[in-house]
Amino acid sequence: MKIRYFDNAATTKVRKEVVNKMFPYFMQEYGNPSSLYKLGRKARAGVEEARRNVANLINCDKNEIYFTSGGTESDNTVLKGIMNLDKNKEKHIITSKIEHPAILNTCKTLEEKGYKVTYLNVDKDGIINIEELNNSITDETVLISIMFANNEIGSIQPIQQIGEIANKKRIIFHTDAVQACGNIDIDVKKLKIDMLSLSGHKIGAPKGIGALYVNKNVEFKNLIDGGHQEKNKRAGTENVPGMVGLGEACKIAKDNMQNHISKLKVLRDYYFEQVKNKIPDSKINGSLQYRLPGNSNISFKGVNAEELLMKLDERGICASAGSACSSGSSMPSHVLTAIGLEKEYLEGTLRVTFGDDNTKEDVDYLVESLIEFIQNT
Ligand SMILES: *Cc1c(COP(=O)(O)O)cnc(C)c1O
Repeated sequence: MKIRYFDNAATTKVRKEVVNKMFPYFMQEYGNPSSLYKLGRKARAGVEEARRNVANLINCDKNEIYFTSGGTESDNTVLKGIMNLDKNKEKHIITSKIEHPAILNTCKTLEEKGYKVTYLNVDKDGIINIEELNNSITDETVLISIMFANNEIGSIQPIQQIGEIANKKRIIFHTDAVQACGNIDIDVKKLKIDMLSLSGHKIGAPKGIGALYVNKNVEFKNLIDGGHQEKNKRAGTENVPGMVGLGEACKIAKDNMQNHISKLKVLRDYYFEQVKNKIPDSKINGSLQYRLPGNSNISFKGVNAEELLMKLDERGICASAGSACSSGSSMPSHVLTAIGLEKEYLEGTLRVTFGDDNTKEDVDYLVESLIEFIQNT
């Protein structure tokens, strides 16, 4: 059966060009980048070219990019690396209620150690309130960490405004841009972002590789101790093929950004329109205006999303209930709870996230399948 993949916010297929670029680094250029002979130098050159491509996607200097094992490690490095700079526990972080677990659970750990954390509310569109942010800042606030775009409902935060506030108050501003990278133009200098997390497997590179941008004027403590790799900030022999793959994915993302965005938007808006016209008692969650191009999140009244997903799976459709991280647990999504979604809609939420391989025909097939299931419940 043909697989129709609509879960690009959970992970993406690795691009062919990315695999091809990585391939020589397994069996030919397999040297350790720290080795001084030619084989090592070739691996080093691959890593540094990749670093330039990652930097280029977000408009920073290549020396401000550190490779990590993914979004989760980048997020952990930021929060722990800022809080652990010295022993002073009188420190305060501001974040939001709708962050990814990589941020929320790390904040929980820091709270257990005695640090203070404020979790900002979001409105019904999933956007923070700038006034609440301003009012939450104290003399102890050292870090503001607000995601660029949400992984469940796709809402995009007012990043430039947050950057300006943080910059004026000399507070470090970090953004988890794992969902935004490659799907929105990001310029860290213009947006006054000090630290940014990104991940390979959300943009056509493999799982287990990511990067962290840190402005050259910002100090942080390394998360992992060991060798001198990544300028002493991330020990461990480099995942050379992974880094090369991430670099290539960033280069492709940069070159194809406008095409990619308009293609996804067309599919997504067509899907919204079809559902609105054909399925009563459905409700789009999140902002229509400030939203990732490929994200849709719709609740169907009285529908059980787990059952729906099983039926869709039987038809070759991969989608998600809320988010991949919360499926498997029966807890309602913290994001849908934060936007105040009514109870009768909460259980029937379907996240469909589009990718470059999707077609209009895929969307028709999806909508037909939805109608069939919903009419029979
Ligand atoms: C996927 C995701 C992460 C985690 O990235 P990994 O590379 O899977 O560790 C963090 N934040 C957001 C917003 C994500 O979507």
